[in-house]
Amino acid sequence: MRFDVLTLFPDVVENYCNVSIMKRAKESGVYELNTINPRDFTLDKHKKVDDTPFGGGAGMVLAPQPYVDAYESVEKVKNSITVMLSPQGKPLDETMVCNLVQYDQIVMLCGHYEGFDERIREIIKPIEISIGDFVLTGGELPALCLIDAVSRKLEGTLGKLESAQEDSFSNGLLEYPQYTKPRNFRGYMVPEVLLNGNHKEIAKYRFDEQIKRTKVRRPDLYEKYKNK
Ligand code: SAM
Repeated sequence: MRFDVLTLFPDVVENYCNVSIMKRAKESGVYELNTINPRDFTLDKHKKVDDTPFGGGAGMVLAPQPYVDAYESVEKVKNSITVMLSPQGKPLDETMVCNLVQYDQIVMLCGHYEGFDERIREIIKPIEISIGDFVLTGGELPALCLIDAVSRKLEGTLGKLESAQEDSFSNGLLEYPQYTKPRNFRGYMVPEVLLNGNHKEIAKYRFDEQIKRTKVRRPDLYEKYKNK
């Protein structure tokens, strides 16, 4: 998998991918990360990448030239998809992450300030993805959410100690409660069933907890699971 991220703040993206699991996966070749700064492509002599909106209004709009030129400079592989991070996009969820894993390259456009000149959308024709109904200052965190969620699904990212198999959403339910040592912490005990070594009973307890938790916390998800 190759991630190409168009961003005015490449450090934000690179720094996140240079720690812990994301670093290990990148270094072992599970994914490749390239950042492209549209500011390096601007033809403006002051290196400007934005301007005031036509029609008036607050803030600055990202100009089409630096973004479109930066985008066209990215080498596209055969099985590639382009994503614009935008609060106006389709909300990111597990199904979408599973679909994105099928690609060999994801090119991402991160906005800033008031967002993109509409012609960037018209020319590049990306799909648009949102990470939720709230507005951030920039697309870097949303791009990282996507990179991280997709990378976790790639073979080789999670080692023996980490597993995605029983994570929330993997079977349509939220994960069961987890415990580690000590057995007694300030009088709060680990459930007895997890200590008896009976794998069948443990699996049943965990599944029941998944159902209980999902019903209470995410009735929408539970309804979907029930009707599957
Ligand atoms: N004026 C835009 C609007 O109302 O739709 C919001 C622009 S936002 C301040 C700047 C950039 O942050 C966006 O272009 C986008 O890349 C990113 N962004 C902000 N919130 C986001 C979200 N919920 N999901 C994905 N990207 C987001």
